[in-house]
Amino acid sequence: MRRLFVSDLHLTAAAPEAIEQFLRFLAREAAGAQALYVLGDLFEFWVGDDEDDALSERVCAALKGVAGAGTALYLMHGNRDFLLGEGFCGRTGGYLLPDPSLVDIDGEAVLLSHGDALCVDDRPYQQLRSIVRTPAYQRRFLALPLRARIALADRARAGSRAHTSRQVPTLMDVNPGTVLAAFRATGAARLVHGHTHRPGIHELIVDGRTVRRVVLGAWYEQGSYLECEGGHWQLRQLER
Ligand code: MN
Repeated sequence: MRRLFVSDLHLTAAAPEAIEQFLRFLAREAAGAQALYVLGDLFEFWVGDDEDDALSERVCAALKGVAGAGTALYLMHGNRDFLLGEGFCGRTGGYLLPDPSLVDIDGEAVLLSHGDALCVDDRPYQQLRSIVRTPAYQRRFLALPLRARIALADRARAGSRAHTSRQVPTLMDVNPGTVLAAFRATGAARLVHGHTHRPGIHELIVDGRTVRRVVLGAWYEQGSYLECEGGHWQLRQLER
């Protein structure tokens, strides 16, 4: 029973090498896995499930192939692609998981999250998040024509960088107190999240319990995934 976890692929037509690597990962590593969890930021930007460019068509078709072959496909929203919805699930055969989700994996309570909600020290970002993640904001945005949404997304990105190049953003790390509170509130033995682009496995003691925080890597310079088989967890890298 193999389960795979990825996040922060940030797929965009501007970075074809990451797209090809993810499609190879789906064909090779994901083949025969019991489940694949995509914990947010699969896409650099997602303006709605009617997105029909070549990138979304290829990725959706490949994910549908994985789900069709019997691998359970679970997706969580990231801060870049929180507009993934039921239409996307229909195109891929995947299921959307709420953030956070507490799941049982090989008898262990595992808390899954994208991770941006744990970065509470980034006040400007949390303010933005509290606006764009409201149903009212999303209804208004999704009511715009597709081309207008794409133009708005392009403009938002052009403000901070040239989007022909793919820069690795520096993000604030998780707040230790928020992480502690999450372990306490859920009783989880393990927290798996992405977003911070700082892959690693951290051991913590919470009220005398040893717990682990596993951080998934981003796919900017190479591929990265987490594998769990028979209660054994391992972060793996895919060279490019
Ligand atoms: Mn993110």
